[in-house]
Amino acid sequence: MVSRVIPVESFDLVIFGGTGDLARRKILPGLYRRFLAGQMPEDARVIGAARSDMDDDGYRAMVREAIEEFVSEQKRKPDVVEAFLGQLHYTAIDAKGEGGWDKLAKLVRKDVVQAFYFSVGPSLFGDLATRLHKHKIANPESRIVVEKPFGRDQDSAKALNAVLAASFDEHQIYRIDHYLGKETVQNLMAVRFANMLFEPLWNAQYIDHVQITVAETVGVGGRGGYYDKSGAMRDMIQNHLMQLLCLTAMEPPSQFEPDAVRDEKLKVIRALDPVAAENIVRGQYAADEDQASYIEHSENPESKTESFIAMKVDISNWRWKGTPFYLRTGKRLKARMSEIVIQFKEVPHSIFEEDAGSKANVLAIRLQPDEGMDLRVTIKEPGPGGMRLVDVPLDMTFAEALGPEGADVPDAYERLIMDVIRGNQTLFMRGDEVEAAWAWTDPIIEGWQKRGDKPAQYEPGTTGPEDALMLLHRDGRRWRELK
Ligand code: NAP
Repeated sequence: MVSRVIPVESFDLVIFGGTGDLARRKILPGLYRRFLAGQMPEDARVIGAARSDMDDDGYRAMVREAIEEFVSEQKRKPDVVEAFLGQLHYTAIDAKGEGGWDKLAKLVRKDVVQAFYFSVGPSLFGDLATRLHKHKIANPESRIVVEKPFGRDQDSAKALNAVLAASFDEHQIYRIDHYLGKETVQNLMAVRFANMLFEPLWNAQYIDHVQITVAETVGVGGRGGYYDKSGAMRDMIQNHLMQLLCLTAMEPPSQFEPDAVRDEKLKVIRALDPVAAENIVRGQYAADEDQASYIEHSENPESKTESFIAMKVDISNWRWKGTPFYLRTGKRLKARMSEIVIQFKEVPHSIFEEDAGSKANVLAIRLQPDEGMDLRVTIKEPGPGGMRLVDVPLDMTFAEALGPEGADVPDAYERLIMDVIRGNQTLFMRGDEVEAAWAWTDPIIEGWQKRGDKPAQYEPGTTGPEDALMLLHRDGRRWRELK
């Protein structure tokens, strides 16, 4: 199978925060890989912008190092790297001051696609939008890419939407959630809406429950101070897991088109029930012999912020009433694994003997480590000895099913940046979606604060607090193994 690379129009992409961690680890290596794939036009330009004083050569040297560190050796072709670096520029700018803006105005070309990536702390998003407008750098077709976190509650998200809206139209604003750029997440939509096999069964009548897990083995490490103000609910559930839930639960959009998809996701968010305290388990990781505890990492001995959360979420609509969605995410867990699991119901009546064994179908959509899908179906165990049933995988790991080309899929950031250049907002969150997600999240967080709830401690390298297991056990269900 040969992958198809469609070149994009020429562009000037300004990366505010072009010297920061995200730019070095994800954005610039991603752009290099698109360049290598032949997707980036030869006259496209990437302009790094931050306060540090640096010239183009200094910036190119920094990006060369980033490519060496974050691009696989197999993809580092010296002549291609040099050609890519030749398309990079740098300009010093202060988001909070007036210095550098006139120079940027002269640098950015008016006759190509203009994109401005806000890869800076969230307190600067508003300043950047306002100054781009004030200095007449942006035009009505320019795009801005806004990183997470988008607000910390509904009020702040509304305020940020209002500041951005004062300078940019909604069709110009790309709120990024890199989970939406993952190949498997888009494949979820292909599986649901391009096959007759699944969609008729995709409802409470046939699906027992859904599990969405995003598990990490790392702790908060050096980001403890930042993370402590956020926690798993704000950092993961409100955005990433919510987006995965929406794509799993939404009605078929009339077209695969930005507003049609986002309208359907918004309807799901609005149909989420409030979550009662007994349906949420929060945890903080303890220390082990290698690493400090969450409390030590957070440098706040009184911290009540959760590094783990598991919750049971009900959706009040015709499709899902009675089928819970269990969400869990946490740090320092047993395995690094992200997946969406659709657990089908058992057949209504088994025609086989009781001891034949019976298994319900499971569709697991893996986001990491290896992206792919696995459908478990029940068959007869081969050989004599009567009818014994076993469940076997119909595995569709992309690398195996599609050959090496199938495994060589663009990283989420690469794909999303190219979508920005193409002007396709389908995989980006709309302002009302983000506000609705906060409207659901806020009362949950306020409840913890009012009651002074403290997360339970859990051992690193486990599946989180015991109570998270109980959340499913009491419903006669169990979490999929973390592996
Ligand atoms: P970072 O490493 O702290 O980098 C911040 C960047 O902003 C630097 O280039 C810094 O350069 C620049 N900057 C700071 N103040 C500025 C100002 N007043 N004017 C212009 N530039 C300024 O942060 P990061 O980790 O890259 O994160 C950037 C954004 O991405 C944040 O919103 C973060 O939440 C989000 N994000 C990051 C990650 C990640 O993995 N790192 C993941 C998801 C989301 P100077 O100091 O030279 O100005």
